[in-house]
Amino acid sequence: MAHLPPGLADESRIDLHAHTRCSDGTDDVDALVRHAAEEGLDVVALTDHDTTAGWDEAAEASRRHGVAVIPGIEVSTECEDLSVHVLALLPDPSPSTALHSHMERARESRGTRARRMVERLAADHPIRWEDVEAQVAGESTTVGRPHIADALVARGVVADRTEAFGDLLSSSSPYYVRYWAPEPAQAVRAIVAAGGVAVVAHPGALTRGSTIPDDLLEEMVAAGLAGIEVDHREHDDVSRARLRAFARSHELLVTGGSDYHGAGKPNRLGENLTRPSVLAALIERATSRTEVLLP
Ligand code: AMP
Ligand code: FE
Ligand code: FE
Ligand code: ZN
Repeated sequence: MAHLPPGLADESRIDLHAHTRCSDGTDDVDALVRHAAEEGLDVVALTDHDTTAGWDEAAEASRRHGVAVIPGIEVSTECEDLSVHVLALLPDPSPSTALHSHMERARESRGTRARRMVERLAADHPIRWEDVEAQVAGESTTVGRPHIADALVARGVVADRTEAFGDLLSSSSPYYVRYWAPEPAQAVRAIVAAGGVAVVAHPGALTRGSTIPDDLLEEMVAAGLAGIEVDHREHDDVSRARLRAFARSHELLVTGGSDYHGAGKPNRLGENLTRPSVLAALIERATSRTEVLLP
């Protein structure tokens, strides 16, 4: 079981959802942790999509900037065309786990999918695969639509990521292509089997198509879901109230996170926070050897 960050107090500021250039954020790991310090955070979770690539660098960044870092992943899952993201906190990162296999397969499929989307886009717009490659930080980066968006911006096709997602890259666009991801309950089981703690990310985010229905959430609870990210910028008051009630009736922990992506999105680090008592309960549920990275 992982240890609690020492000095965790009622007023500690904890953001459990943030991205870097290891996936579709624009900060490198060091910059993310520096920005977390500048925003007065005590703890930030590093939750890049389908990868643990940033974890090693995070240990050094934590020491340099005095912010505790929770090693995490935002695991892509899919259920009947509905994209469901699951935060995995403190899982075992070793390649022997089912979680690792899921992530590898999803990353590979994301790469193929991005190429196919660019092929479709190229029929009508000035974009080539090389333009997307130029936006991707490195070999191990999890490629996503935001990288295609950045390539479209660089080519002057759209002004920013938001515009790209509003039309060309939306899931209802003719250019959209799906990628492989495990089913939500399957991913939750894999996270728990890897000793991690599973928290469903932004389950009420309407902007992503549709909210996750109760019966699917219940399946995830049965698979070992520990928490639900209620405080997220894409949840309105009605959605937060519904999710809080669901959490209460299913004994789930309630988290909050910014879903910070650097310059790629307006989300500010620390704009939504998780209570220290909730972090303590999450850490207590982790069973892997993965530790919170301490300054
Ligand atoms: P993908 O995982 O490749 O399907 O792309 C989805 C990712 O795009 C999400 O993780 C978000 O970070 C990002 N995204 C979704 N909508 C927007 C938006 N309107 N503006 C910027 N980024 C977005
Ligand atoms: Fe993202
Ligand atoms: Fe997400
Ligand atoms: Zn996210």
